[in-house]
Amino acid sequence: MNKINKIENISFIGIGNMGSAMAAHIIKSGFNLTLYDVNPAVCAKFVAQHGGKVAVSLADAGRDADAVITMLPNGKIVSDVMLGESGVASTLASGSVVIDMSTSAPVSTQKLAAALMPHGVTVVDAPVMGGVVFAKDATLDIMVAGDAAAVERVTPLLKCMGRSITDCGVTGSAHTLKALGNYINACAMINVVEAMTIGKKFGLDAKFMADALLPMINGRQHPLEKKIIPQILTRQFNTGMAMGFITKDLKIAVDTAQSIGAYAPLAGLTHALWAQAVEKFGGQLDQTVVAKLWEQATGVSLAVES
Ligand code: NAD
Repeated sequence: MNKINKIENISFIGIGNMGSAMAAHIIKSGFNLTLYDVNPAVCAKFVAQHGGKVAVSLADAGRDADAVITMLPNGKIVSDVMLGESGVASTLASGSVVIDMSTSAPVSTQKLAAALMPHGVTVVDAPVMGGVVFAKDATLDIMVAGDAAAVERVTPLLKCMGRSITDCGVTGSAHTLKALGNYINACAMINVVEAMTIGKKFGLDAKFMADALLPMINGRQHPLEKKIIPQILTRQFNTGMAMGFITKDLKIAVDTAQSIGAYAPLAGLTHALWAQAVEKFGGQLDQTVVAKLWEQATGVSLAVES
């Protein structure tokens, strides 16, 4: 028979920078907590500070657990920990849930879910946005995906670690969204670094540029807020700025960088992609039509019904 639906006994695997901060909220919220980490010192330190008990092995961590949370470096390690010889799955009872809060590859999450399904164990992916500071004050933004009933069961547990829980759909969707969020942020970060190093090389002050650029690229000027949501998803394609103008502006940035010997690989690639869109669709069309370059190549539409 399946275990009862209530989740009380939690095993937390991976007591690192994030895991230790997150596990502390679980114990504070009144759950029974068992810890495991390949480095026993981090578990001993946690128990001395917050309480809980340490599992002597992965198999021990699976025993009696209603839910097992993993906060490990990657999905390969999560799968090894679960499915390896004498791994967590060897002792997990039918009806228990595995919640992978690591940033794992969605395909490995789907494979893990398929491997555990015959044992009656459900896998939920629940990666987090926000670093150690937000883990410490339990304001992580948690994306969650998997079987709807399992997601509902684990939501009270997730709530003690985060300020928002967003259901993304089928298994692996949350891991996909998390990776895409990090991709956007990583891209935006080097984008700003590249622009500011070009500016510095030209003679602009770094602090001055940071302050002056902030209102130009943030909030109501951010592409998601200003262009993607109101113009691309709605198919309005009507910001009032032609694609040819943006392409011309990008060329100015690229030429400026080249003329002063700045390192600007992103600017070059960005200009080439916009120039490709101009050639394909026409420079007189709205700048937001650039999205069609990606939509057509990928075979999807970002259209959203109103
Ligand atoms: P970390 O390296 O500090 O912690 C990982 C822990 O896992 C370590 O304590 C390590 O000893 C343990 N571990 C490794 N292999 C193990 C195994 N086989 N069995 C048991 N324990 C094992 O990493 P972190 O910064 O806490 O990140 C964990 C996950 O969270 C990663 O997937 C990361 O991408 C994601 N993440 C991190 C941040 C952040 O700001 N650090 C933010 C969001 C998401």
